[in-house]
Order: sequence, then structure tokens, then C-alpha cells
Amino acid sequence: MVLVSCRNCHKVFEREDYSDFTCTRCNHKVRHRIKDSLQVSLALTICAILLYIPAMLYPIMEVTKFGITTESTIFEGVISFLEYENYFIAFVIFTASIAIPIIKLAGLIFIFVSIKVNVKMSNSIRVIIFKFIEAIGKWSMIDIYVVALLSSIVQLNEIFNIKGGIAATSFALMVILTMIAAHRFDTRIIWDE
Ligand SMILES: [Zn+2]
Repeated sequence: MVLVSCRNCHKVFEREDYSDFTCTRCNHKVRHRIKDSLQVSLALTICAILLYIPAMLYPIMEVTKFGITTESTIFEGVISFLEYENYFIAFVIFTASIAIPIIKLAGLIFIFVSIKVNVKMSNSIRVIIFKFIEAIGKWSMIDIYVVALLSSIVQLNEIFNIKGGIAATSFALMVILTMIAAHRFDTRIIWDE
């Protein structure tokens, strides 16, 4: 006899073996482990890290004012808010767009590597790190909201116009890929010997 829990409603079943079956409570397909979970999540995280580079180097916003276009990267945005003494906005943008993505990506890579390589750390700490990464995930889209809002409101062509740059696309993709990587990861692998 083995015990298998449904990943959707957490009901625990007593079964003969680890073959797939359908949950009697929520009709979710119950599997012993999600197929290739670690490999897929690791691949998505590496893609997200690669997307983080253009997201930082290229302009996130293009502002056209009286025919003159100025572009600014996320980092330049933080610096200009600091120059205007808007410390709170500078802090929010820095945390949401620069710090949180780095913490998330580094945390995910750390968990994935620590499962394969022998790192002296208790499994419950790994789960806590993972829960933390999942929890802060939703706060890293603030930048995209700002650019999307501004560019939909301010559309006066050559007089005053705001447009999202290349970095906005790569940033949004990076956040989405990180979220899928965290969601696709089967935390039960952490407890496998
Ligand atoms: Zn279920």
C-alpha cells in the first residue's frame, strides 16, 4: 500500500501502486510526480535569466515630447526618480523590477541545484524558500502595469506619446516564465531520496 495526495485538493488516497488515477473529489488527474518537473522548471528559469539581460539593458519606455523622443531603461528610471527626490517611487521600482526578479531567479536556481548537488540544508528550508518565491511573484509586474497604463492613456502622437520599449516585452516574458517555472515545479521532489 502507498499513499498519494491529489495536488489540486490535497485529498490523500491509499493505493496499490503509484500509477495515475483521477481524484474522486475534484476530478484532477493524480500523478506520483509531475513529469520532468525539475528539467522543465530549470529550462524555463534559464530562459528567464537570459530575458532579464535585455530587460535591464534596453529602454523600457519611449517618451515623445514635441517630436523629441527620449528612451530610458529601468535603472535610468530609478536614478531619475532619485534626482527628483521621489525616494518612495524609486524604492518601489527598484524593489519590484530589479531586486525581486533577481531574488526569485537566484532562489529557484538555488533550490534546483541544491536538489541535485548535495547541499547541507533541511528540506523544510527549501520549501520555505520556494513558498516565499511564489508569494513575491505577483509583485514584480508593477513596471509593466505602469508602462501599459501610461502608453494607453498618453497617445497624442508627436506632441506627447509614451510607448513601451523592447525591455517591456522581455521583462513581461521573464516574469511570466518565472511564474510558470515556479508553478510547474513539483515540490514533492524535494522530499524524494
Ligand atoms: Zn483532488
